Amino acid sequence: MSEDSTPEGTVELGFVEKAPLWKLRSKFFPSKVGGYPAWLALKHLPRTEDLSCKKCGNPLAFLCQLYAPYHDKPECFHRTVFVFVCRNSDCCEENDASNIRVFRSQLPRENDYYRTIPAEEKEEGSESPNAADFNPLCRVCGALGPKTCGGCKVARYCSKPHQAKDWKAGHRQECQHPDKVGNSSCPGSKQFLFPEHEIAMEPEELEEEIPKTEEEVMKEYEKLLNSGQVPSTDDDDTDTQDLLKMAMKETDKQFQKFRTRIKEYEDQVVRYDRGGEPLWVSSENKPKDIPPCQACGKPRQFEFQVMPQLLVHMKVDSTGKSIDWGTVLVYTCPDSCEQNKEYIEEVAYKQDYSPISQVLKNQ
Ligand SMILES: [Zn+2]
Ligand SMILES: [Zn+2]
Ligand SMILES: [Zn+2]
Ligand SMILES: [Zn+2]
Repeated sequence: MSEDSTPEGTVELGFVEKAPLWKLRSKFFPSKVGGYPAWLALKHLPRTEDLSCKKCGNPLAFLCQLYAPYHDKPECFHRTVFVFVCRNSDCCEENDASNIRVFRSQLPRENDYYRTIPAEEKEEGSESPNAADFNPLCRVCGALGPKTCGGCKVARYCSKPHQAKDWKAGHRQECQHPDKVGNSSCPGSKQFLFPEHEIAMEPEELEEEIPKTEEEVMKEYEKLLNSGQVPSTDDDDTDTQDLLKMAMKETDKQFQKFRTRIKEYEDQVVRYDRGGEPLWVSSENKPKDIPPCQACGKPRQFEFQVMPQLLVHMKVDSTGKSIDWGTVLVYTCPDSCEQNKEYIEEVAYKQDYSPISQVLKNQ
């Protein structure tokens, strides 16, 4: 494992914080949730098809980005990992991350876009440099915008669906006044983007953990089983019932561990632990075969996970089915290898609560 920014074994936690939006622009290398992506490399952004949902084909929405350089690798002097998710709740299925895509971008200290010394923290001039200086961007999602509105000839879009979305949201009226049409924020983006906030990172400091005894766990289980809240199988089949009991006991332990661990920092939205072990929400549905890095062939390693608490800040529809996860795990190339590409796709894995942890969660 390469040198880390934190002492070995320390997890960095991310919290949502209110920050002036200008501080969340590319120039300041932010970690953030929502809004347009603050692209790191400002050219050769992911193509429209790379940023589309593998389920429904629609353009994905930017979820969050983490600034995570490798201090021992000059090519990764700057490095940011971006997570995108489909807004269509029908594409969200249990333990299936095909509605989520992850990209990393990295730059050496000397590069085509940024100065070698940190930019002064002030609002004036914060908009530049920006990916929009180099490419037309979709005004709805902030990805590449190769399509131009035929009416005003100003508004740019990544795709037909985003053009249609913006048209319905208000561009229909705006289009008649081309001089007033801008490409930063628009009626469609206000509906499409998630609320924008900073993600502030800090090390996790744990009080000594008092593990539950086997007996306590089992007692809780008995209680749950007797409560009738647990989905039960055919009562006659005692073998299945026993197996289920065992499975639940395991899951419970994992879920209890999850709950104990996050108790001290309940607002955490991200856990960063490159090369470490994820905090599982369940002992079931752990990933079995994360594909190796496409370029160098090395097995990908866990880098960070997005926690369920982030959903609260996304203001997704809470009635009925909505975008949801127990946790989203992000796996990346351990060497963060160079690939002659500005944006390299990595792997997301979604783990959801098992039925039993769902019951516990709602208690
Ligand atoms: Zn979709
Ligand atoms: Zn778009
Ligand atoms: Zn127009
Ligand atoms: Zn690699």
